[in-house]
Amino acid sequence: MDKEWQTDLRQHLQLRKAELTARLERITNNLRRGLVSDSEEQAKQLEDSEVIDALGNEAREELGKITAVLERMNAGIYGICTACDTPVGEGRLRVYPYALECIDCAELDEDIRAHAR
Ligand SMILES: [Zn+2]
Repeated sequence: MDKEWQTDLRQHLQLRKAELTARLERITNNLRRGLVSDSEEQAKQLEDSEVIDALGNEAREELGKITAVLERMNAGIYGICTACDTPVGEGRLRVYPYALECIDCAELDEDIRAHAR
């Protein structure tokens, strides 16, 4: 069973998911429309479509995070660190609901990434 704050979060994420899905659909439609016209206009539209595509990537990325959280909620393992199996902590999840790792593992990952550069 979800804790009360998780129920709120789930509702919030489902709304956000619907919003992002609708936005992605609009972006895809705009992209498709941009493919028919003469060359000069096409160049301008290509520029626009790159901007639109960047927005689409952002939306897709967030959708992916939301889906991962909802899946973990459904499986009853939301809030458990994916790396070390300890609770991520309600405080951290309230600030950053997409967190799949506890603060220690997340910081360790960041360290590794920083040193890999
Ligand atoms: Zn951890």
